[in-house]
Amino acid sequence: MTYDDQNIFARILRGELPAFKVYEDDQVLAFMDVMPQAEGHTLVIPKTPAITLLDLDPEAAAYTIQVAQKVAKAMEKALDVKGIVLMQLSGAAAGQTVPHVHFHLIPTSVHELGKHAAQMGDMEKIKAIGEKIKAAL
Ligand code: 5GP
Repeated sequence: MTYDDQNIFARILRGELPAFKVYEDDQVLAFMDVMPQAEGHTLVIPKTPAITLLDLDPEAAAYTIQVAQKVAKAMEKALDVKGIVLMQLSGAAAGQTVPHVHFHLIPTSVHELGKHAAQMGDMEKIKAIGEKIKAAL
């Protein structure tokens, strides 16, 4: 499969679509999920164009996970969370809906996960939670 550079995350990376960003450097971006499966649901994406984890350069994968760990620690500090689900869907058959590789950080329990990519959240609330995570980084 060829990488589609018009996918939503590629457009967010180019600044063509808005996002509540919590962390950004030259290789990785972390931003709030607009259809959260729990309050604080954050996405961490490498800037390199890869569709799934299987396509991603191992060094980029390793660095993206390092950033995910940093964001998870900030979540723990900022949101009084007890546990964080790290989820990564590779391929439509796994349920992947956006064809740019990403890691989900979802502060909840696997037993209480909301439905995947199902319902838009409250943008003001998402923004406020994102600001708390950002401030704790
Ligand atoms: P996937 O199904 O590919 O693993 O996850 C894609 C995630 O992106 C879903 O959790 C979905 O809620 C989120 N998402 C879809 N469209 C947008 C968008 O335009 N902005 C943001 N911030 N998240 C999105």
